[in-house]
Amino acid sequence: MRVVPIACLQDNYAYLLIDDRARVAAVVDASEPEPVRAVLAREQVELVAVLATHHHFDHVGGNEALVAAAPGLAVYGHRSDAARTPAINRLLDDGDRFSVGAIEVEALHVPGHTLGALTYLAREADDARHPRDGAHAWAFTGDTLFLGGCGRMFEGTPAQMHASLRRLAALPPGTRIACGHEYTASNLRFGAHVEPANAQLAERAAHVATLRATSAPTVPGTVGEERATNPFLRTDVAAVRAHVGLGGDADADEVFARLRREKDGFR
Ligand code: FE
Ligand code: ZN
Repeated sequence: MRVVPIACLQDNYAYLLIDDRARVAAVVDASEPEPVRAVLAREQVELVAVLATHHHFDHVGGNEALVAAAPGLAVYGHRSDAARTPAINRLLDDGDRFSVGAIEVEALHVPGHTLGALTYLAREADDARHPRDGAHAWAFTGDTLFLGGCGRMFEGTPAQMHASLRRLAALPPGTRIACGHEYTASNLRFGAHVEPANAQLAERAAHVATLRATSAPTVPGTVGEERATNPFLRTDVAAVRAHVGLGGDADADEVFARLRREKDGFR
C-alpha cells in the first residue's frame, strides 16, 4: 500500500491509497474533484472507492463529480449518514471490513465531531513476506484526531469524543495517523500552553515549524507521537489535569471537556 496526501481547499487533506500491483486506488475524503483527478492521472491508477470520514462538505464535496465520471465507484460512509453523504452507496457499521485491491480496510465508528464519524484503518493484506505489523497500518481519522489536537464537538458529547479518541490512542504506537486538516502547528501551540514542561512536545513543535516554513505537510504522524504530545490523549497526566484545575481523582471526561472548551477559544 502506498499513501499519497492530496492538498485540497484551504487546508484539507484527501488521501489516495494505492495498490501498486493491481493499479487501483481509493480516496479518503474527496473534498473536491480536481486535485484528486490530477493525482490519479499522475499515478496512472484507477479509482475504485471513495471513503468518507464524515458528512461535512469539505470532506465529501467531490463525491458527486467523481461518481458522475465513474458510475461504478463504491462510496463508503457511516450508515447513520446515509441521508447526508453525497453519492453514498455502501453503508458501514463499526467493525465492518472491505478491500481495495490488496488493501484491507476496517471502519471504526468514532462519534464526537459528528455522530456518524468514521476512522478508516488500512493495511496491506497479509502475505508471507510482509507479515502484519502495526507500523504498516494507517488510520485515516478525518476531523476526529488531528496531529497534536482533535476536532470540535459539533454533534457528540465530551464523553463520546473522549472515548473515540481513546480508542484511536490504543492502536499500536507505529500506526500512521493521517488526518483531515493541516492544523498541526496551531494545535502544538495549544499543547505547549497546556504542558510547557513537555520536552517531546516542544521538540515536535520545532520540527513542525521547520516543515511549515516550506509549506511541507506534517502528515502522517504516529499514534506513539500523539500519545506523547497531544493533550487530548493525555487527560490522565497530572500536568494536564492541573492545567484545567482538576486533580488526580477527577473524571477523565471532565478533564477532556475542559481542555476542549479552552481550545475552542484559544488563539
Ligand atoms: Fe468536519
Ligand atoms: Zn473538516
